[in-house]
Amino acid sequence: MSDCVFCKIIKGDIPSTKLYEDENILAFLDIMPANKGHTLVIPKKHYETLTDVPVDELEKLTKELQKITVAVVKATNAEGFNVVMNNKEVAGQVVPHAHFHIVPRFPNDGMAFKWPTKKYEDGEVDKFKEKIISFL
Ligand code: 5GP
Ligand code: ZN
Repeated sequence: MSDCVFCKIIKGDIPSTKLYEDENILAFLDIMPANKGHTLVIPKKHYETLTDVPVDELEKLTKELQKITVAVVKATNAEGFNVVMNNKEVAGQVVPHAHFHIVPRFPNDGMAFKWPTKKYEDGEVDKFKEKIISFL
């Protein structure tokens, strides 16, 4: 994707602070970190969302994602971490190249990670259960 900012980073057309790279994935520091050490892990091939990434590539990616998360947490002395993936604009995805965020977390770091909860009406839980299972 010629106009994709992350594809440009992979090609080296845009500078980035690279942390890890192999034939399949790239990890680099987010330019606008939620906390210092905030890292992005991306497949080198351009896919838009999680569900577009072929499962064998996703397996390799998530294996490295775990290793990189361990390194980020150790390096930042984080007390916890969020691994977040926004998929599609409605879910907050700004860069349409699949990416995992690793955000190290600290007490009172000012990050709010709460969503407003909804309530199932009577019988709705079963409807959702049946419908989701029908697509598995
Ligand atoms: P999204 O909102 O799509 O889940 O996250 C995109 C992330 O990419 C944002 O956190 C943003 O700061 C980061 N980002 C956007 N452009 C660049 C860039 O040119 N370099 C780096 N290192 N990060 C970027
Ligand atoms: Zn791309």
